[in-house]
Amino acid sequence: MPHILDAIFKPKTIAVIGASTKRGSLGHKIIHNLISFGFEGIIFPVNQKSPYVYSLKSYKSVLDIPEPIDLAIILVPKEYVLEVVDECGQKGVKGIIVISAGFREIGGEGIKREKKLVEKIRQYHMRMIGPNCMGVFNTAPDVRLSATFAPAEPLPGNIAFISQSGALGAVVLELARHLQLGLSMFASMGNKADISGNDLLEYYYTDPNTRVMLMYLENLGNPRRFFQICRRITKEKPVIVVKAGKTRAGALAAASHTGALADSEVAIDAMFHQAGVLRVASIEEMFTLAMAFAHQPLPKGDRVAVLSNAGGPAILATDALIAQGLTVAEFSRETQRRLREMLPEEASVNNPVDMIATADQESYGAALEILLQDKNVDSVLVIFVTPVLVKSIDVAYKIAGVISKFPNKTVVTCLMGHEGVLSGVEELEKHKIPVYRFPETAVRALAAMKEYRQFQQKKKGQIRTFEVQKETVKQILLKARQEGRSMLSSDEVRDVLKAYGFQLAECCTVHNAEGAIAFARQLNRPVVMKLLSKDITHKSDVGGVKVDLRTEAEIREAWREILANVKMRFPSAQIDGFVVQEMVKEGKETVLGMSYDAKCGPVIMFGLGGIYVEVLRDVSFRIAPLTDVDALEMINSLRNSPLLKGVRGEKPVNIGFIIENLQRLSQLSSDFEMIKELDINPFIVSEKPEQCKIVDARIVIA
Ligand code: ADP
Ligand code: MG
Repeated sequence: MPHILDAIFKPKTIAVIGASTKRGSLGHKIIHNLISFGFEGIIFPVNQKSPYVYSLKSYKSVLDIPEPIDLAIILVPKEYVLEVVDECGQKGVKGIIVISAGFREIGGEGIKREKKLVEKIRQYHMRMIGPNCMGVFNTAPDVRLSATFAPAEPLPGNIAFISQSGALGAVVLELARHLQLGLSMFASMGNKADISGNDLLEYYYTDPNTRVMLMYLENLGNPRRFFQICRRITKEKPVIVVKAGKTRAGALAAASHTGALADSEVAIDAMFHQAGVLRVASIEEMFTLAMAFAHQPLPKGDRVAVLSNAGGPAILATDALIAQGLTVAEFSRETQRRLREMLPEEASVNNPVDMIATADQESYGAALEILLQDKNVDSVLVIFVTPVLVKSIDVAYKIAGVISKFPNKTVVTCLMGHEGVLSGVEELEKHKIPVYRFPETAVRALAAMKEYRQFQQKKKGQIRTFEVQKETVKQILLKARQEGRSMLSSDEVRDVLKAYGFQLAECCTVHNAEGAIAFARQLNRPVVMKLLSKDITHKSDVGGVKVDLRTEAEIREAWREILANVKMRFPSAQIDGFVVQEMVKEGKETVLGMSYDAKCGPVIMFGLGGIYVEVLRDVSFRIAPLTDVDALEMINSLRNSPLLKGVRGEKPVNIGFIIENLQRLSQLSSDFEMIKELDINPFIVSEKPEQCKIVDARIVIA
């Protein structure tokens, strides 16, 4: 079955409405590009004045064209676009590219015009790219469609690109050509009034010529759909995204720790990670990755060999390898022996291999072959620094020959210098071998390949659904909402959490010291006393928490102290009573949190908790629903996760139980979009599940 977007990317007939005889105009350039790229179909210019454009017979209206039309490319001034689109609809055109500008991007009447445009597109069941875009292309040999006014002609290849910016799109095309990077498909989306980045991504994925997908995005139109699509496709084809607008707009004053730590960038990062999207910081980095992913196999493991003709760059490369989590390969005896045999005495035959400055193309070829034959080596980084006597082009030619014999091993190269290495760089690019100008960049490419391989190998994971009392929670939330409260009371918070199977420390609300003493006696163990006040979010801030109280006297003393503290630090606070709680001994303080992101949905947080969570910032985020694999990753990705696993003779905490609780939180947040922020801090965890308890929590509703 043909895909609906085939009309745009694989048309048999094209009408160019607004084709022009004027050299230098867009309407002329686009015809030129279509013809010079060798479009495998028929082009019909539509032009009011001239009977021909670019030697092609031209028509006054698309309705006059004697053949059916698959794709119409529209470049007429904005005032005429709607009219022309109507004609296209009547003609039965299936796909439209509106290059003309003057729509949503200019505001005011432009917004109205765009709305009408979309109505017409829907009315005639057409699909549209744009408006305000630079066009598309498809280099497939049976199509050869170059429907853009970009100056650079694309090279056919396996990289598909989506750009939200026309200008950056043009830049990328030019750079890609310069780097000899071939593209399969390209689209500049313009205002995305109809076809979105998500639609294009799905379409590219089905294209047999596409191996890697690149996106330049300024916003994710529908992040949840993007998430779903990526979860489905990224294991097969990598998606590399430059998402602009990364600057954090400083967290707003938030009532919870999670609210203060999570922002929409955090949500997007989490989503990209879960969906296997490779996020890069710049166009430059996008090319760094694209070059490697397009032309090299993924390394089977992390062991990298470095081959160089100078010590300095080799050391830099080794530092970068270690810093980025790769392994410096340990060569087999055989490899060392063979290298020793062929290299001068001064050379180092351990990793990194320094062949010293006398190394010529023959040494490079032979040494590279030896390294690629070693079973302990998964990938090789070849570094060449301009020496006096050897020509970089000769070295490039030689190693390209060797690399072609090892299609299953990964090789990236780094040619340092300028004039002395230019011919070598070109030669490598010609052979589709990733070539970088600095060792750290080459290592970045290898590290991204490692990240992607790990993602591919990751288990799918299970989303657990627990038996819970959903109705109870619903009633509590609705009641609070009816009463116009956004903060749940501490009793309500307890009931909500209990209904979803969380374990809470035993506690009781009291209004005098006698009540506290009575409850402590009943518990028969040390207690904690906390101030209860709807005006105070962080109780310890005002000296409102006293722990490990063992005697009546200690309880009375704590009572007095807390009251005195509050009086001094927050005199206007209303005191609603005190909470006496069992003292949870031992265990590590963790935080489980959730902050609802308008675009991505519930963002779950895990971290090392307690009152210093904002200062330590050792937290991780994922989008709900969480699989067990997601939850485990959240735990493992903390800087200080070893603390949870037992250091210095301590017993490890129960990781499985934390995973379960994170998944309960994920279920609760997914069930009730009304919950805006939720903070469990601390959740004190130790080895035995029955000893893991929540001692403080907070819920904010919308
Ligand atoms: P807040 O976050 O409002 O300042 P918490 O109830 O979280 O108040 O208490 C602050 C800190 O006091 C906790 O991080 C924990 O170290 C300690 N704490 C509070 N309650 C208990 C408890 N029941 N058992 C052990 N330690 C506690
Ligand atoms: Mg707390």
